Amino acid sequence: MTSTFDALRAMTRGLVAPVEWHCPGIGVHPERIMPGHQTLDWRPLSLGIYRVVEHTCSCRAVYYELVSVGGSYQIHKVIQPETPEHAFTGGWTRREARKWWVRLLIGHAR
Ligand SMILES: [Zn+2]
Repeated sequence: MTSTFDALRAMTRGLVAPVEWHCPGIGVHPERIMPGHQTLDWRPLSLGIYRVVEHTCSCRAVYYELVSVGGSYQIHKVIQPETPEHAFTGGWTRREARKWWVRLLIGHAR
């Protein structure tokens, strides 16, 4: 199965926003947010103990993880000043989560 990372890396080649600090090259760089984007409902806590399925590159001040929580999926947002802030959205099926993950990566949702 081709990962979202590979698909997005191909799609966004040459379109990536500038790096904010040293880039370890460990994940895709989300696109800049697009006008008219959909706003996700961010909450401070996850639905439970989660496993990271995919993640964006940590070179940005804000990075994201697609996480699996039991049978559902969420997106974890990490805002990383000195003390990172965390927020979670979703509680989706795998299919719905993929849709929102891709929308987030291409700047259509945040
Ligand atoms: Zn990076």
